[in-house]
Amino acid sequence: MYRPKEQWADGDFATNHCPSCSKLVQTRLTYRTVQLARTRLRVPQVLVDVCSECGRTISVARQALAQFREAGVAK
Ligand SMILES: [Zn+2]
Repeated sequence: MYRPKEQWADGDFATNHCPSCSKLVQTRLTYRTVQLARTRLRVPQVLVDVCSECGRTISVARQALAQFREAGVAK
């Protein structure tokens, strides 16, 4: 069943293109503390998808953008 990213939930599986593996990989949705590029700000408990092969965080759930906004990043 197609599940839009807005409805990601912890523990779900998805597929995504991993920049480290340079291929489509299976990813697992989990909560991580994310440090934003070019800032020192760390946002805890952000839902991300993680490559099941190399462990890289590939992308952040759209629903997490509100958390960044609260943290004062995305305007
Ligand atoms: Zn990977």
